[in-house]
Amino acid sequence: MKIIRNNLLPGKNYAAINLFGVLFCHHDTVISPVLVNHERIHTRQMIEMGFIFFYLWYLAEWFVRMFMKGSAYYNISFEREAYLHDDELDYLKHRRLYAWWPLMKRKKLERAKEMKRKKHNR
Ligand SMILES: [Zn+2]
Repeated sequence: MKIIRNNLLPGKNYAAINLFGVLFCHHDTVISPVLVNHERIHTRQMIEMGFIFFYLWYLAEWFVRMFMKGSAYYNISFEREAYLHDDELDYLKHRRLYAWWPLMKRKKLERAKEMKRKKHNR
């Protein structure tokens, strides 16, 4: 993944922003394997959505979720998938196409989190 360190992108409250598969971050951002995996998950989402539709959907969902319960950002389905799986460094090897889609529903997200908890508590 191409990483460009700079002072402008992303805004102050974010660690990094992925624009068309290129990661922009501040000079002092710690780039962990989990962060890179998170952004790679977004790149995969972008590819399957044809990039432009990814950003349109992302912004539209963010806007709609601003009027819903909880954090709009963390509840965007692309973010739900990325945060749910970013610590699984082999996730993209077995990820299903449009894996973010079922996570649109809070119930499916809660079920996925529960399954992950059970898997790790074995
Ligand atoms: Zn993200």
